[in-house]
Amino acid sequence: MALRCGRWWRRPAWSRTRPPPARSPLSFCRLFSTQELTPQICVVGSGPAGFYTAQHLLKHHPRARVDIYEKQLVPFGLVRFGVAPDHPEVKNVINTFTQTARSDRCAFWGNVVVGRDVSVPELREAYHAVVLSYGAEDHQALEIPGEELSGVFSARAFVGWYNGLPENQELAPDLSCDTAVILGQGNVALDVARILLTPPEHLEKTDITEAALGALRQSRVKTVWIVGRRGPLQVAFTIKELREMIQLPGTQSILDPADFLGLQDRIKEAPRPRRRLTELLLRTATEKPGVEGAACQAVASRSWGLRFFRSPQQVLPSPDGQRAAGIRLAVTRLEGAGEATKAVTTGDTEDLPCGLVLSSIGYKSRPIDPSLPFDLTLGVIPNMEGRVVDIPGLYCSGWVKQGPTGVIATTMNDSFLTGQALLQDLQAGLLPSGPRPGYAAIEALLSGRGVRPVSFSDWEKLDAEEVSRGRGAGKPREKLVDPQEMLRLLGSGA
Ligand SMILES: Cc1cc2nc3c(=O)[nH]c(=O)nc-3n(C[C@H](O)[C@H](O)[C@H](O)COP(=O)(O)OP(=O)(O)OC[C@H]3O[C@@H](n4cnc5c(N)ncnc54)[C@H](O)[C@@H]3O)c2cc1C
Repeated sequence: MALRCGRWWRRPAWSRTRPPPARSPLSFCRLFSTQELTPQICVVGSGPAGFYTAQHLLKHHPRARVDIYEKQLVPFGLVRFGVAPDHPEVKNVINTFTQTARSDRCAFWGNVVVGRDVSVPELREAYHAVVLSYGAEDHQALEIPGEELSGVFSARAFVGWYNGLPENQELAPDLSCDTAVILGQGNVALDVARILLTPPEHLEKTDITEAALGALRQSRVKTVWIVGRRGPLQVAFTIKELREMIQLPGTQSILDPADFLGLQDRIKEAPRPRRRLTELLLRTATEKPGVEGAACQAVASRSWGLRFFRSPQQVLPSPDGQRAAGIRLAVTRLEGAGEATKAVTTGDTEDLPCGLVLSSIGYKSRPIDPSLPFDLTLGVIPNMEGRVVDIPGLYCSGWVKQGPTGVIATTMNDSFLTGQALLQDLQAGLLPSGPRPGYAAIEALLSGRGVRPVSFSDWEKLDAEEVSRGRGAGKPREKLVDPQEMLRLLGSGA
């Protein structure tokens, strides 16, 4: 069986073995309900990709069991540790994930690092299928001199700091400088700029950590530059996030009208979202504010701006050589057309004084297990519609499958497709046919290795504790950030 699957799983074989796709979820249910097998499936990672894949499997197979393994003590991935605290509505997806986790055919096992505490081959042995949904945790390095100076951080670590990610709690960014520079012009860059410039009292009722809020109260950062290699037509943020920046209380926008010359005509043919976004940028840059707007600007004590056609070349050190004191930007111009437009340096440079440099130029997945194929160039697991190439019974979904772009809704659709591919393979007899032990086998391994998994009901205790700690301050929760304390609260020795 293994041999046959191994041959069938190779790339060209997919087109031959793939069952017809047009089967409705309903007919899946009917089909599976006549079979005896209880498919044991495991998912690695409890972010949106993991939970949406699990949701699809449980919904469309009446007996499938899904165990979700997570390396953090708590579930929900970037919904908890990425999404900005002042965007609570985005976090409502947690309610759906909680419903999934409460299903008696689903289990959550936090505090288990796959690739360290348990290997992927061990999981494959214990389950009929394994879905890798472990996201893209690494950030792209700038690879420029001075990157190691104090005051230079990845935006991802900065986000983890204010969102309570345990490993980022020691970040302690020094916010005593006047100017911060963010490299990259995507939504994460705008999230970070917004958090830096929002009057702290507006964040008091969010789930931002108390420590981060305290530091933001002391912050002297007044100006944030958001720097992009390319031009206004290539920004990667979306209109909602841009509008929030434009309307940020006590803050004015600095956009140079010269950057937008001739754009009005060029965007006529652009897709609607790009056109609307560019029109908003254009209006903000060129229109005189009304009476109300002018009054707001007059009292604004903070500002943010977009700098285009600039590529980071070097972080400039302070006189003692310890801290970042500025950034040298190479001036660029565009070559090529459309989405493929590339920025090339012109030879000119510009120095921008700043005490904080946050790089937000993208993320990368990492290989977590030597047995896995991994595309180091694209930073994803090579796959065909979620089926990991050459490895029967192994699937992937979310950012580790598609690359680190796209919002939760994109991840949801993509994860449903992976779930569907898996169920199709199950139906086509491409997964191991006999029973599999599932968690029972992994539990024995973990206990032998001294790992104490955190169940979903454990998480619900931590959740209740967080909610209760936030109550006094009127916050939705005060996040627990110390894993030892969390384990103590669960009654297990640290
Ligand atoms: C800063 C930031 C803000 C964002 N804001 C928004 C927003 O406002 N709205 C929106 O729609 N989208 C937003 N997104 C995008 C959204 O978060 C992603 O689309 C989505 O989280 C991707 O889901 P995922 O499950 O693939 O990855 P993740 O959410 O990263 O989940 C991966 C999970 O796998 C776990 N894991 C990693 N390695 C292992 C291992 N070895 N063993 C076990 N578990 C492991 C991780 O701890 C994590 O819980 C934001 C992204 C970022 C980075």
